[in-house]
Amino acid sequence: MTARVLVLNCGSSSIKYRLLDMGDGEVLASGLVERIGEESSLLVHRGTSRIERPGSCATHAEGMRAVLDAFAEAGPSLEGITAVGHRVVHGGSRYSTPVLIDDGVEQAIEELSPLAPLHNPANLTGIRVAREAFPGPPHVAVFDTAFHQTMPPASYLYAVPREWTDEGVRRYGFHGTSHAYVSRAAAGLAGRSLAETNTIVLHLGNGASASAVRGGVCVDTSMGLTPLEGLVMGTRSGDLDPALIPYLVRTRKMSVDEIDDALNTRSGLLGLCGANDMREVWRRVDAGDADAAEAVEVATQRVKKYVGAYYALLGRLDCIAFTAGVGENDHRTRALSLAGLHPLGIELDPAANAVRSAEPRTISTPGSAVRVMVVPTNEELEIAGQTLAVALGQRT
Ligand code: AMP
Repeated sequence: MTARVLVLNCGSSSIKYRLLDMGDGEVLASGLVERIGEESSLLVHRGTSRIERPGSCATHAEGMRAVLDAFAEAGPSLEGITAVGHRVVHGGSRYSTPVLIDDGVEQAIEELSPLAPLHNPANLTGIRVAREAFPGPPHVAVFDTAFHQTMPPASYLYAVPREWTDEGVRRYGFHGTSHAYVSRAAAGLAGRSLAETNTIVLHLGNGASASAVRGGVCVDTSMGLTPLEGLVMGTRSGDLDPALIPYLVRTRKMSVDEIDDALNTRSGLLGLCGANDMREVWRRVDAGDADAAEAVEVATQRVKKYVGAYYALLGRLDCIAFTAGVGENDHRTRALSLAGLHPLGIELDPAANAVRSAEPRTISTPGSAVRVMVVPTNEELEIAGQTLAVALGQRT
């Protein structure tokens, strides 16, 4: 039997999971438990058969028990799985590669929680619960920040007092497993060796980030100390003038927590036009909503600015790869983000761009110097692959 890896992604109130056959990447089972800790939780399991079950999982431990029950009831069996891979949002400067989890790694993830207060504690809870539930297979932490650890100081340093930097204030970047997977897949789709391919990855989902990848190595990315910086997102502002914060404190008498919440959950597309789901934003644009039209302009212009900046940084650009919910599905966002870049050798083919497909594909003209493509991301497969490599390394 080929190796099978269980990938777990524990959020503050959810557990998402996927069981992968590493021979061919087939998804053997997937599912999620959502609304953990709320009045009624919901488990959806797609295994040998499908289960959809309301429940009352008060804790992640109960949620994990429900997942194990679902596997026992609706298959496939988890017996003999090779490894369990955990998505961990923040690995700080400490982790540039995935690691086998032991008590020390758990402690490090806990110590990094101030940098990702919404994510790391939930990831850690998931790890603790899963290690108890599955004591057999090795557990591996795969960090969202790890791929970006190759950035040079010119990219990761903020121009702030050195003592802040010494305490960990710097750009880390996120969505790293997606940027790693997509940049590799883009080189493959272009028929080029990864080492000789320069790519800008545009991960445009509810969260959004761009990265500049030279020969498979990340040289810059748009998210920073936290996932708030950079592109305009569903509910996050992305880049803004940091002086806005003292301004709000002084004029609106807002607390730090209120500002933090507003910039993370009430800004971005939602702040600009009242909708954070891109499909709804377009519905409003099509109905003549001026705010929605402006929201699209702000968001796509921001993408374009990053494309220009990263092109300059890379010096030579071979590929631009769109990925994630918006990047994979929204041809209008793709077209606006790259509109007018013909002089830079970036030329979309409108017909190819309009094709709807779940496959990786090229959407630039044959004459475009830069190959533009849509590459569906597969973070779970990337996490599973990295997990397996660590698990096998550990055994030999
Ligand atoms: P993600 O965070 O990667 O799951 O992406 C979620 C975002 O993708 C949401 O804003 C969705 O509205 C957007 N999305 C999904 N499908 C489409 C589509 N067909 N057209 C435009 N946006 C889409």
